[in-house]
Amino acid sequence: MNTKKDLAISTINAEFIHPQLEKNYRQGVMNQTGHHTTFSLLFTSLYFTALATYNFISLSPQYGFFVPLGFPLAVVILSLVFAGVSLLHPSLFSNGWGITIIEAAGFASFFLTALLHSTELTINCMNMIFMIMAVYLFIPNRFIMAICTSALASLVFAFMIITNYKPVLPDLIAIYFMMISANIFGGISANRINVMRRLEWSSLAAQKKNNSQLMQEIAIRRQLEERLRQLARSDALSDLNNRSAFLDLAQKEFQRARRYDEPLSLMILDVDFFKRINDNYGHATGDETIRNIGQLLKNSIRNIDIAGRLGGEEFVILLPHATIEHSYEVAERFRQALTEIHIDTPQGPLRLTASIGLALCSKEDHSIEATLSRADKAMYTAKKSGRNQVKVAPPNNSG
Ligand code: GH3
Ligand code: MG
Ligand code: MG
Repeated sequence: MNTKKDLAISTINAEFIHPQLEKNYRQGVMNQTGHHTTFSLLFTSLYFTALATYNFISLSPQYGFFVPLGFPLAVVILSLVFAGVSLLHPSLFSNGWGITIIEAAGFASFFLTALLHSTELTINCMNMIFMIMAVYLFIPNRFIMAICTSALASLVFAFMIITNYKPVLPDLIAIYFMMISANIFGGISANRINVMRRLEWSSLAAQKKNNSQLMQEIAIRRQLEERLRQLARSDALSDLNNRSAFLDLAQKEFQRARRYDEPLSLMILDVDFFKRINDNYGHATGDETIRNIGQLLKNSIRNIDIAGRLGGEEFVILLPHATIEHSYEVAERFRQALTEIHIDTPQGPLRLTASIGLALCSKEDHSIEATLSRADKAMYTAKKSGRNQVKVAPPNNSG
């Protein structure tokens, strides 16, 4: 977590005091800065094209073609190349050196041609002030680099004014005053812009962090809700659907089978003499038996089958697309598999049998409960007929 101290910005260089944070910031705004740089360099190239034209018109009779055009056009070409590079590889400009090189080249070109315009003091001063403001406010750069470039260029120009133009003292003072003011106003504004962009970035980063924490919490909450929903629908002991979940799913399957006229079978399985297991081996062994049966059912059914524990030692399986012959085979297999379950107890291995009742959903069944009731009756017939067997419910003729 970033504290206020970690996010501190130096008033001297208008950068984050924490070096890693400053690095992250520059990386974070790299693309945006790259686009701004490209735009301002394109504009710079236009500016120097205008300067070249002005030089050409006013100086070519005296100096020929190359000297007046050469310096500004070199800056135009450099600006265009750097504008392209900044668009494609903005990372090359994020440390400020690329822009500083262009700015230095721009000033150098301006000074060299200004020497030729030795009579145009006002125009050159205006140009200089315009360039100082552009360096501070228009071309994105690190504050410290902008102030160094501008201040150094101002010093050179101040020296040039004395050596080349020799103005009267009041004019000289006025020009110096304007240049110093341009540096102070531009510098303060550039400092503010740099500080504000960093403040904006850090508050946006904090907001993003909060949002992602919130999203994580929501995801965890959703998972918990889903887990709770699962728990509410499953039986803790057998890990199968509980009665109400089973009935829900079965009712949907029942309606689907009705709509598409597909066979649907239902099987009820009740463990024989389960009470004796509790009595003879203890309740914990009874629970273990229920767990084992749940596992067996889970592992043996198809994906589309729905298994559940109706309560006590009574289980149920719904078999979509299964005719009564097919589900009879499945029931027989379960009955056989149950007799093969071995549960070790201190009193020796425990043997299980179960009675199974089967029913095929018929058109006369108004709901899944009707089919369930017929399967239940068939299961009781199996109990009465000696247990450990499968009985099929007669078709429903009630209409
Ligand atoms: P039958 O062959 O006629 O089905 O005899 P039964 O003993 O299996 O049937 P009965 O309905 O008389 O007994 C069911 C027993 O199952 C009674 C009850 O204590 C026990 N039982 C119900 N739920 C649980 C449970 O979650 N864990 C354990 N260990 N026993 C349970
Ligand atoms: Mg029983
Ligand atoms: Mg029972």
